[in-house]
Amino acid sequence: MAFELPSLPYAHDALEPNIDSRTMEIHHGKHHAGYTKKLNAAIEGTELEGRDISDILSNLDMKNSAVRNNGGGYYNHSLFWQVMGPNGGGQPSGDLANAINDAYGSFDAFKEKFAAAAGSRFGSGWAWLCVHEGGRVEVCSTPNQDNPIMPGVGCGGTPILGLDVWEHAYYLNYQNRRPDYVQAFFNVINWDEVSKRYADEK
Ligand code: MN
Repeated sequence: MAFELPSLPYAHDALEPNIDSRTMEIHHGKHHAGYTKKLNAAIEGTELEGRDISDILSNLDMKNSAVRNNGGGYYNHSLFWQVMGPNGGGQPSGDLANAINDAYGSFDAFKEKFAAAAGSRFGSGWAWLCVHEGGRVEVCSTPNQDNPIMPGVGCGGTPILGLDVWEHAYYLNYQNRRPDYVQAFFNVINWDEVSKRYADEK
């Protein structure tokens, strides 16, 4: 069974004005679709075919650049669409809020840490909020389409929130102003979904 491009859980224009409709159309319909297609081509006829994407990435031979880049791209974007939404923004509550406060002292301090991870990633990559076994959370970033579940690349936990900082994610609307895009992202984070992932993965 080949991997399929997941549908967006909302309309292309649902995240306006924070993320513009045209960017969403190209990002999902071209970039994510491209990673999905190339991932399928890379695993076809190999022992990776038919395995779960988390299993493939967490046991990956990092020299397998086709699967590293396209499997990472498939997984990362599949998470990205889910952790945003038209009714997003605000702050988490409950266990996740407590874990963020334990790690960073306050939600605002977490925001600064996350924005710094996103802003200081040179070139293309991702910023992450990960959860470790036991519930501790950690912010980190990875280059290109690498992901923290891959061997030896990031904080080593399971990502529950991810922000794409490739220029294709923001350039049409924000040009070189990555920090503005990062701040806008906080307006669309679906904390209910992130909290659900926290509860499932901790
Ligand atoms: Mn992207």
